Amino acid sequence: MQVIRTIRGLRVWRNHLTSGRHPLGFVPTMGALHEGHRTLIQRARRRCRTVVVSVFVNPLQFGPREDFAEYPRTLRADLTMCRQEGVELVFAPSIQEFYPSDFQTTVSVNRLTRRWEGAIRPTHFAGVTTVLTKLFNLVKPDFAFFGQKDYQQAVVIKQLVKDLHLGVTVIVCPTAREPDGLAYSSRNQYLSSVQRRHATVLPKALAIGANALKEGRRSLRAVSRLMADMLQAEPGVTVEYVAICDAHTLEPLRRPQRDMVLLGAIRLGRTRLIDNRLVKAARWPR
Ligand code: AMP
Repeated sequence: MQVIRTIRGLRVWRNHLTSGRHPLGFVPTMGALHEGHRTLIQRARRRCRTVVVSVFVNPLQFGPREDFAEYPRTLRADLTMCRQEGVELVFAPSIQEFYPSDFQTTVSVNRLTRRWEGAIRPTHFAGVTTVLTKLFNLVKPDFAFFGQKDYQQAVVIKQLVKDLHLGVTVIVCPTAREPDGLAYSSRNQYLSSVQRRHATVLPKALAIGANALKEGRRSLRAVSRLMADMLQAEPGVTVEYVAICDAHTLEPLRRPQRDMVLLGAIRLGRTRLIDNRLVKAARWPR
């Protein structure tokens, strides 16, 4: 008989019993699949023997005045993409199936969800972490694939998995972008053609900020101002936030450091867009 005292030890023992050699990859989505989702599925396909995609527009992660009702639902096209990419299983439950009427449990991550998206969308992350806890329990994936596009979400999910010992390896994949730099998003289809042109200011401003930091600009206040001014000058754009943060804690920074993330959110009419840039390499010493 063995006695194991560490979580890691328990996991290694448990994984040897079953699927360890045939990893299962999982890509959770809300459907309306686009090229960004496709890159996640392809990454899962390369890494894992079996790939599961979920398509579920999760009501819990929308606020009362948000776009749950209008959110695009394109299951037929989603299934075509999944078939093309060799996905083994699509899990697409109904709301009643997933949240029976007596459902009453919420999972939430605290500190990391207070700022940025969490400040503007107060119930959003609890909705995300609750749906993912359920999905991870159901699918029991070895690897789960998320986009860097939703940077704060990715950090929150890593924390969730760590805190609750969910036993899935979270892989964060690079943001897939249109040729003009705009990140693919299911919400881009809400934009008029004029708004669509102005929307590229978000990736442009973040890229300019990131370059300034890489070149060694030390005043974060000046770099933030540069990005905010650029966003504000764009017709039709309302800036929700633009900030230079610690890439792990998401706290705003006063001074440059090694791992920084630039987070931005804007509105064009009623459409919200978010984007980010990671700045890892820096010239200054720690
Ligand atoms: P959603 O369907 O919006 O919930 O997104 C499902 C997953 O796709 C999340 O992990 C997102 O971060 C990811 N994703 C969305 N847009 C992109 C993109 N442009 N590039 C890479 N991943 C993305």
